[in-house]
Amino acid sequence: MGRAFRIYLAGESVLVCRQCGNHLAVSEGVMSKQFTGQHGRALLVQQVVNTYTGEAEDREMRTGRHTVRDVYCRVCHTTLGWKYDFAFEHDQKYKEGKFILEREMITEKPESKRDHGRPRIEELPVREVLARV
Ligand SMILES: [Zn+2]
Repeated sequence: MGRAFRIYLAGESVLVCRQCGNHLAVSEGVMSKQFTGQHGRALLVQQVVNTYTGEAEDREMRTGRHTVRDVYCRVCHTTLGWKYDFAFEHDQKYKEGKFILEREMITEKPESKRDHGRPRIEELPVREVLARV
């Protein structure tokens, strides 16, 4: 069984996977809340952690053509949103390398006292992580 590294974030509040509570991003990293995902409202986020991405593919979106990859929760494998690899339109270039998190798939929680301080990395066997879900 492999090992999964999970990063615990410290920020004003933390965006977590609604399904399993996995830390995904800090609220300070949210660039825009005006985005629309497949399930309604979505956030544009600078960086996410504890996730993995699928194959790159071109999609026609309201704002033009983009090369994107679906983003999955590293722990429970829920599809959380997508990553922009490439924007074909010049005025959409700012999205490249950024992430969309669907509101429907995440929840925002204030940072707990216990997590205060610098971000830390914890190593857990995958089986143990799954057992906690
Ligand atoms: Zn999850």
